[in-house]
Amino acid sequence: MIFIIEKHFWFSEFCISESQKLQNRKEMIETDILIIGAGPTGLFAVFEAGLLKLKCHIIDALPQPGGQLSELYPKKPIFDIPGYPSVLAGDLVDNLMEQIKQFQPGFTLNEKADTIEKQADGTFIVTTDKGTKHLCKAVAIAGGLGSFEPRKPLIEDIEFYEDKGIEYFVKDPELFRNKKIVIAGGGDSALDWSIFLSNVASEVTLIHRRNEFRGALDSVEKVQELKHAGKIHLITPAEVIGLNGAEHLESIDIDENGAHRTIKTDYFIPLFGLSPKLGAIANWGLEIEKNAIKVNNALDYQTNIEGIYAIGDVNTYPGKLKLILCGFHEATLMCQSVYNKLNPGKKYVLKYTTVSGVDGFDGTRKEAEKAVVKSID
Ligand SMILES: Cc1cc2nc3c(=O)[nH]c(=O)nc-3n(C[C@H](O)[C@H](O)[C@H](O)COP(=O)(O)OP(=O)(O)OC[C@H]3O[C@@H](n4cnc5c(N)ncnc54)[C@H](O)[C@@H]3O)c2cc1C
Repeated sequence: MIFIIEKHFWFSEFCISESQKLQNRKEMIETDILIIGAGPTGLFAVFEAGLLKLKCHIIDALPQPGGQLSELYPKKPIFDIPGYPSVLAGDLVDNLMEQIKQFQPGFTLNEKADTIEKQADGTFIVTTDKGTKHLCKAVAIAGGLGSFEPRKPLIEDIEFYEDKGIEYFVKDPELFRNKKIVIAGGGDSALDWSIFLSNVASEVTLIHRRNEFRGALDSVEKVQELKHAGKIHLITPAEVIGLNGAEHLESIDIDENGAHRTIKTDYFIPLFGLSPKLGAIANWGLEIEKNAIKVNNALDYQTNIEGIYAIGDVNTYPGKLKLILCGFHEATLMCQSVYNKLNPGKKYVLKYTTVSGVDGFDGTRKEAEKAVVKSID
């Protein structure tokens, strides 16, 4: 997404020079921890690893960092990040990028981690679907939901209207300013975006095939309120059955309880969720349970293969919560475990950043100003 490239010059410059280098010679990228997934968990892992003087490189299938936050809800406020009463998802990603800048992580973007080979010395070689090879001492899978594959409704010609009136994600609400939009779905995304876009679009219609919604109670109540205020048109039980328009979507056909009618719209946003796909990682010999990777949560979030960890939304263990703050915690313990493995016998003493400061790999240092007392009488 452009906003990150514009804001993080260090990141865009790095990516350009790095990709040029790689185009010239398909060299092996070497690092201490190879992180698969540049979502919030993967990004914060770079910071925690940096404090322990461990270098990180991140692979992501998407063209920009941020995972679900950049791809699914960059303009939505998050309310449960400690210390932030409210922060836009896109701003949290920007802040994480700023926080890890000192540790100069490498990025392989727009490529999927495809195969892994464990070497005799315990190191790993991870190769992407585009053939880029990475040699590392440990692997941290922070792959979240996996590759983002929206569940598409079975409507004739739907592919023709993609990017011409059909959007499966709301990346930039401004696209819908003063436009007529129709959202379909019965879960949190459909409810939340209907509420949010009722202040942006000229007309919002929410269509669901049942009268009951699966989303949070307060969101359902809010939609009800907006319906009575005339800000959301609710059509239930109904389904979209046809799309019309020569070059761009102009109207949709709906089946409302057996009766057919056509309504004009500029955009149709079907929000039927994502089908989580672990993809090639599912064939790496890891223990998988319900599409998530089993880890040892009592210790360090390591998988059944020594040296491969799984952190954030991608893992599972008793009591697992798929929350950003849980991913941050898991990333921290994973880095401590990698440090201990790479430095056997060396006693690690936990240091507070308030006391130790932060020494970046770029030679910069952050520390609190120290009071200088010249003499004590
Ligand atoms: C609408 C919405 C609202 C939310 N609100 C909140 C909230 O208020 N508070 C909260 O705590 N959580 C919230 N969440 C959940 C939160 O977004 C997730 O818990 C969080 O994104 C998990 O971070 P992650 O880094 O583990 O994974 P992700 O953010 O999913 O990132 C994973 C990354 O891995 C990449 N990837 C996957 N497989 C591969 C591969 N093979 N090769 C290369 N790259 C790969 C993906 O492209 C992706 O970029 C919300 C989620 C949604 C959808």
